[in-house]
Amino acid sequence: MSDRDPIDRDGLRDRYWERVPLKNLNKREWEALCDGCGRCCLNKLEDPDTQEIAFTRVACRLLDGETCRCAQYDIRKQFVPDCVVLKPSNIDEIAYWMPPTCAYRLLHEGKPLNDWHPLISGTAQTVHDAGISVQGWTVPEFEVPEEEWEDHIIEDPS
Ligand code: SF4
Ligand code: SF4
Repeated sequence: MSDRDPIDRDGLRDRYWERVPLKNLNKREWEALCDGCGRCCLNKLEDPDTQEIAFTRVACRLLDGETCRCAQYDIRKQFVPDCVVLKPSNIDEIAYWMPPTCAYRLLHEGKPLNDWHPLISGTAQTVHDAGISVQGWTVPEFEVPEEEWEDHIIEDPS
């Protein structure tokens, strides 16, 4: 398995995520917070009464289930218009339905990054090794009708 990190994390301020508020990060620092897990590209079910979110292994049609990356990241909105672009200005509304391991959600909640995060480990491979990424176990949404997503609910990683 390649150890190449598809996200540019070179030359960033030392441990910036521990001392700079999310809203003050520059664009590269913001992008580098993404651990590349791919979990936000899984389809979710929301309980209308409790707003509880359940993730499924049914992935967005553009997710590459091996690299855990969007196959058309730069032009994804042309194919998936409702793909949400996470920004400092919308994180307050969006954080609650991001995966609990997501770096943006963790920092938004005042929690530290985990040791397997590439910014700490120095390699993207640790996200796969820790079982956090979706590598190898998703099914594309065009193979599973929406009424069956409930059968594909997954546990949150502990
Ligand atoms: S869940 Fe968060 S950390 Fe994981 S790929 Fe999505 S934005 Fe990045
Ligand atoms: S369009 Fe790309 S970034 Fe958006 S949910 Fe689908 S795979 Fe993820």
